[in-house]
Amino acid sequence: MHDHGAAGRYHGAMTDDATADAASGPPPTSVSSPQRPAHAAERCDVLVIGGGPAGSTAATLLARSGWRVVQLEKDAHPRFHIGESLLPMNLPILERLGVLEQVRAIATHKPGAEFPLSGRGIDGTERANDYNTFRFARALDPKFGYAFQVRREEFDALLFAHARDSGVDARERVRVERVEFGTDGRPARVHARDANGRAQAFEPRYLVDASGRDTVLGRQLKLKRKNEKHQSAAIFSHFRGVERRPGEDAGNITVQRFEHGWMWLIPLPGEVMSVGAVCFPEYLKQRRGDAGAFLMKTLMSQPQVAARMHAASRVGEVHVTGNYSYTCDRMTGPGWVMVGDAYAFVDPVFSSGVYLGMNSAEQAAEVVDGSLREPLREHALQRAMETRLGRGLRHFQWFIYRFNTPVMRHLFNHPRNTWQVEQAVISMLAGDVFDNPAVVRRLRVFRWIYALTALRLAPAALRGWRQRRRQAQVRYDGGETLHQAAPLADDAPHASQPSRPLATSEAEARQ
Ligand SMILES: Cc1cc2nc3c(=O)[nH]c(=O)nc-3n(C[C@H](O)[C@H](O)[C@H](O)COP(=O)(O)OP(=O)(O)OC[C@H]3O[C@@H](n4cnc5c(N)ncnc54)[C@H](O)[C@@H]3O)c2cc1C
Repeated sequence: MHDHGAAGRYHGAMTDDATADAASGPPPTSVSSPQRPAHAAERCDVLVIGGGPAGSTAATLLARSGWRVVQLEKDAHPRFHIGESLLPMNLPILERLGVLEQVRAIATHKPGAEFPLSGRGIDGTERANDYNTFRFARALDPKFGYAFQVRREEFDALLFAHARDSGVDARERVRVERVEFGTDGRPARVHARDANGRAQAFEPRYLVDASGRDTVLGRQLKLKRKNEKHQSAAIFSHFRGVERRPGEDAGNITVQRFEHGWMWLIPLPGEVMSVGAVCFPEYLKQRRGDAGAFLMKTLMSQPQVAARMHAASRVGEVHVTGNYSYTCDRMTGPGWVMVGDAYAFVDPVFSSGVYLGMNSAEQAAEVVDGSLREPLREHALQRAMETRLGRGLRHFQWFIYRFNTPVMRHLFNHPRNTWQVEQAVISMLAGDVFDNPAVVRRLRVFRWIYALTALRLAPAALRGWRQRRRQAQVRYDGGETLHQAAPLADDAPHASQPSRPLATSEAEARQ
């Protein structure tokens, strides 16, 4: 490995010679040299693995700070991806990136999140056709009182193109295969392969792993751990002709609890509705044969969803994903940092994934920038990132693990704004769980309310707790279709296997 000097950064064609003057102008857009022998490594300041929202955010911000950034994406944009509903707290990030208006132009306006009240509540009341809407404008100090819903193929392509326009050497169809570490424990070489099977190597001074559920570093370093508290799997597709709510609520996401998990209805541009179910693995394991029929049977089991879908026709493939939740043991290490799903995946019930990815990418960019400028600060910057992101993630997780319990159902069915606790819950739904002490204080009060309600409703609460524990033990790995999650560290025998290809048709999704 070469010593590039603390504040040095690369300029000019990316050869094995480094120039170390940070202030001599913006980096050129191309870093590859046509004369380069096949085995020579390209050098850069930062290598970003992955061209999803987290990767493009980190790459853009770092290029803007003047660093020479290479970003590698194994697929080619536009490509399908799930994760279409954004949170209000995403919008300030889009604004800082400078793409807010471009995203608005391809998005559905989402003023709130709706939770239907179905079935018999634990208070014995039958709730058939009613729903509560939590409007983001009611959050505590909302900067944006709404969010967006997007087709991810458009959103991700936009962010990737923006990264390129910002000076990132963003390359598609190049898959990172392995990271080689130097004797100092820092990434020394990154080995990749392009679509023609040609090997490529890079020598970055810093590595950002934004590879999503492929978890390149988490897999290689065996850091990935199954979440023991929560397991779920999903089945979903796109439909036309699904009834929307009237007026300004037409763009709201619907999150419908049901016996085996929860369902989503996400209005997308072009009258398309993304509809899917996140189920306990035990339920999805019952699936036999046709994935489309199983999806419809599941959706039709809920009268409120069935009523809105009576004239619907499917316009997309059916995808099935064993989206078991995981976290990596570490988020950072010497010379590297993980962002977004590359670090952790949580159940998407609160549509938090893209926001968590972009939020962590913003902070990662600060860590990388600070560490390259002042290497002695690296450890402190990384610790601060782990602490802040871990804290925010835990707020989401607390709600996610309890979302389907009778107690949480009761509290969501009967929201009360005592001490502004309901507004704090809306702030959590908006993603404001990282830096707002007023929200965090009130979320703590909500936990007390939850505990007291659980005592009051002890038999039902106990049933919910038992079910939660049982489901966390069941695992469903079938039909992974979207950036298949890499094996967990506990599955070491499979750890070196490459990802399965994407299932691109319903036939492929059948098992
Ligand atoms: C069923 C389901 C529903 C969801 N719903 C929502 C939702 O409504 N809202 C929300 O915010 N989130 C949702 N999510 C979560 C969301 O999909 C992710 O959290 C989000 O996409 C994470 O962004 P990312 O940039 O970290 O990873 P990704 O978006 O997955 O991007 C990673 C990129 O890295 C590339 N890559 C992977 N390996 C390599 C490699 N070796 N070399 C080069 N490139 C590589 C991939 O091709 C991919 O483009 C949902 C997830 C699931 C499973």
